[in-house]
This record gives sequence, C-alpha cells and structure tokens, in this order.
Amino acid sequence: MPAIVADGLYKVFGKRAQRGVEALKAGATKDDLRKDGLTAAVIDANFTVEPGEIFVVMGLSGSGKSTLIRMVNGLWEATAGDLEIYGENLGKLSDAGLRRVRREKVSMVFQHFALLPHRTVGENAAYGLKIQGINKADREAKAERALELVGLGGWGGSYPGELSGGMQQRVGLARALAAGTDILLMDEAFSALDPLIRRDMQDQLVELQQKLDKTILFITHDLNEAMRIGDRIAMMRDGRVEQIGTAEQILNNPANDYVSTFIQDVDRTKVLKAAHIAEHPPAVLGAEQGPKAAHKLLRETANSWLVVLRRDRTPVGVLWEDDVARAVRLARTQLPWSSQHEMPVVPHDTPIAELFEHSAKHLSPLIVVDEQQRFLGVIPRVTLLTAVGETQNETTTEIQAITTTGDARPGSGATAVAPRKEGEQA
Ligand code: ADP
Ligand code: MG
Repeated sequence: MPAIVADGLYKVFGKRAQRGVEALKAGATKDDLRKDGLTAAVIDANFTVEPGEIFVVMGLSGSGKSTLIRMVNGLWEATAGDLEIYGENLGKLSDAGLRRVRREKVSMVFQHFALLPHRTVGENAAYGLKIQGINKADREAKAERALELVGLGGWGGSYPGELSGGMQQRVGLARALAAGTDILLMDEAFSALDPLIRRDMQDQLVELQQKLDKTILFITHDLNEAMRIGDRIAMMRDGRVEQIGTAEQILNNPANDYVSTFIQDVDRTKVLKAAHIAEHPPAVLGAEQGPKAAHKLLRETANSWLVVLRRDRTPVGVLWEDDVARAVRLARTQLPWSSQHEMPVVPHDTPIAELFEHSAKHLSPLIVVDEQQRFLGVIPRVTLLTAVGETQNETTTEIQAITTTGDARPGSGATAVAPRKEGEQA
C-alpha cells in the first residue's frame, strides 16, 4: 500500500474557494482567480509516495509546497480532491480519526526548528510523546535513542541555545524520529543552515532513511538539494506539479520549457550515474574461448579491444588487439592476460563525476557492473566526455587533463558513441 496518495488535490484560499476549483477545472488560470480575490495554492496535484521513499517537492517560493505538505499533515483541509495516508482518506475521517492518523503516521520537521528554548534538548526531543500517552521513563528512553540516531547522544541535558544551528535542526529531526511514525514531513528543513552543515544534514538524512526505512516527504526550493537526496522529485510551479521523476529522468527528459530552463544549472556529472551512460561493448568474448576466437571477433567487428565475460556474466577484463595478435602468432591456447591486465570495474550507481578519476588511471574503457557484479556495459573515454560535453562546469578542467593525457593505444575508446537510453538493457 502506498504511504501517501494525492488524487486531484486542490487548495484554494479565499471566500467560496469551491467555486474557484470549479473555475480552475473549467480552464481558469491562477491569475483569473486572483481577480476574484482567490489564491490557488495547489492545483490538481496527483502523486503517490511509496513506503521507504524520499519524495522531494521542489519549487520556487510561493509555488504551493508548504500548502501541500500541510494538507498531507492534516493541518489544512483540501478544497477538493483526495489525500490518503496508508489507505485512510483524510477528508473522510472524523476529527478523532484525523488526530489518530496525525499522531501515529506523520511527524513534521520545520525550517526554524520550533524548539522550546526553556526545555532541555531531551525534553524537546520527547515533546509530542506525552500526548501519545507514553510514560515518562519510556519518553526519556525514546528521546535519548532518537538523539543518538542523529548524533546527539549525551546532549539531552543541554538547552537549545547552547547548540549550533545544525545541532538544533538535528534536535528537530530527533523529535520527529522519537515519535516513531513512518512518515516524516520536512518543510525546508535544511534551508536555514549554512551550505556545509546543510550538505552534512543531507547525507545524514539519506543514511538515516536507509537505516530506519522511513518515508520522507521533503520540501525544498533548492534543486541541487532535491537532486541530491530525492528518490523522486515533483517539480512545482504556481501550484501545479509540472513533472514527477527521478533526477535522471528530469534531467534527460524535462517535461516542458519551464523545467528545462530550471535544470540548466545543475551539474549533471553529480546526478547521472555510470549505468546511465554505459553502452554495449562492440565485442564480447566468452572466458572459455581462446586467442584465435578473440582474433576472429576483433577482425569481424573491426575493433581494437573486446570485453571477456564468464558464463555468469561477471567480467574478466578487457583484451587488446596487439596482445591477442601476439598470442595467435605464438600459437598460445590461453587468452593473453598480461601482468598489467586492467579491469577498471565501476558499480552501476557511481556518479559520473567520480568516473573521471577511474578513467584517468586506466587506459581501457570502464566496465560497469550491477549489484551482483554482473556486466552491464562499458564506458569508453569518449563517451564520458560526450556525456558532459555541453555542460560547462568544474569538471571541464578534469576532462581537459584526461584528454591531453591521450590514449597510448591506437583506436582505444574511439567507438561509436550513442549513449544508452533509459531502461535499455546492455
Ligand atoms: P511555498 O511553500 O512553495 O513558498 P506556499 O504554499 O506557502 O508556497 O504558498 C502558496 C500560495 O498560497 C502563495 O501565493 C501564498 O501567498 C498563498 N497562501 C499560503 N498560505 C495562505 C493562507 N493561509 N491564506 C491565503 N493565501 C495563502
Ligand atoms: Mg513554504
């Protein structure tokens, strides 16, 4: 069952908001409504958040993000449409039912921490457990455990004022974790932190999610933050969700001009992964074959290198034409793995930015493998360079460093470069 489902969700502020929704459904714009004194904050939002997912809602200020999250939190009633939390339709619940869902299913982390200054860190973390009817000893234990999870073990006796901004936000996070709900709602939770601390918090959140398997609805106006932590991202503009997808999907197939303009400045090399640019190797040989078969294959495919795979598709390495030719000349029966035999294997989810490092160290194409170490495809240098071709960014100098080093072997990597499309199998 999905954690959160929004189905045709609207929020219009102002008198006779319902009529605003009807007007929107009939084709009126946000501006049309404004003339009638109505604000269309969320317009026809449809999305599903799966359990264990980090779903990011991204948009500029005023695009309706906070309004959306407040509806998910049950703080604000939708003007139209349905919102389900683990199958319970918030609009159809009694007040008591709504309170129960809010208590048991969702916790909220705010941008400005919302800590009580005259309560200790421990009391702040435990805040909210009391209304759940949990006794004092259990509250303290849960709070302490949550503080440990966010790296604040032992700080329970301090006061918020004694903590840095980053630490205070971790108390806010601990409070949400202590509540033990599956869903965490985070509204610009890291936006007030300075950039380095913010990066730390992003990493820590992803780590915590992996450890605790929480479902996180995370709101931000920062695209890089969205791309860094989001399993999927919903791009909002003026109350509407313009596109939902993974960072890769949005970067590669922006739904419209607005989204493509928006993503122009993103550093693709940090978002796109090895599997994304891996391609079919021009020639693949079975590990049980000999030099003659290798030679024949190279001639037939007019290539200077080939990839050797075992029967279970785990890679053995890359073989080069001159080594193969020598083995044939010397009538060898074994494939000529030299002492310098290279096997630059990279996991499928390595960010492209990190591939430059590997590529600089090795002459042969990179071999991309899946989680079971099975072969997925290759990334010749040329492909790596093409992948970031249009993007001018900090990697440019790295690229230049690699290209000027040059390839010692003739023809290496100079295969046709048609980057593999999404979902296509190697
Ligand atoms: P974001 O969080 O993306 O900055 P908000 O959801 O806060 O956007 O606001 C979306 C729109 O709804 C804005 O135009 C804002 O002025 C309006 N809005 C938000 N809250 C209210 C409210 N309580 N009453 C009237 N208009 C509101
Ligand atoms: Mg907001």
